[in-house]
Amino acid sequence: MLVKWEGIVIRTTNYGESNKVVTLFTREHGKVGVMARGAKKPKSRLAAVSQLFTYGFFLCKAGPGTGMPDLSQGDIIESYRELRQDLARTAYAAYIAELTDRLSEEREANPFVFQLLSLTLRYLDEGRDPEILCRIFESKMLVVAGIRPHLHGCTRCGSEQEPYVFSVTQGGLLCPACQGSDPYAITVAPATWKLLRLFQLFDLERLGEIEVKASTRSQLRHVLHRFMDEHLELRLKSRSFLEQLEKLSLS
Ligand SMILES: [Zn+2]
Repeated sequence: MLVKWEGIVIRTTNYGESNKVVTLFTREHGKVGVMARGAKKPKSRLAAVSQLFTYGFFLCKAGPGTGMPDLSQGDIIESYRELRQDLARTAYAAYIAELTDRLSEEREANPFVFQLLSLTLRYLDEGRDPEILCRIFESKMLVVAGIRPHLHGCTRCGSEQEPYVFSVTQGGLLCPACQGSDPYAITVAPATWKLLRLFQLFDLERLGEIEVKASTRSQLRHVLHRFMDEHLELRLKSRSFLEQLEKLSLS
């Protein structure tokens, strides 16, 4: 049976001498693995369409049973050429793709994640602020994963008394009266928690220019990454490289 999926390549793995297993995030079925036979050969008609980040229509032959579908043909909608030519933007895109892969289950449709992923890649390709895009992506994926940080008032008592600190283990902001409950709470400037709250809620389609100071950027990264380390079992290969890059750009 032939099926046609609209999808984005979020992972590729070599398989044998000339084949690739391509993991797609599809609009219709979420994450799906397909076999691209011969795709490692430069002259293969599947070579271009099976590259990481490629957004396209994928025509696949799905056999009976649970076997992996064979990719027979692909039509590229967007290959994000600008993004690929820039080391930093490629690193952000790789991280975003890996995060999508690790936070999604096979064949679990999620049109919101598909839209978020394609839009984020498009903005990266257009040269929008990659670090901020990445923080927005992380914030929204935490909402998808059902573990969003609590950023409306104090996590413990609900008080809106500032200044807040951020407790990674308690999952959100703490007011001055409660901050003694977590000696490891992180000091956060109002700009940081307000942006974190905005990132969870706002519609990415409406992204305008966001001016963010270096110190706020570093707090955003610190809070989100500590939170993800505490609440998600993830060890992302692409993250350490990205962190090196971010530190370089801040210095
Ligand atoms: Zn409190």
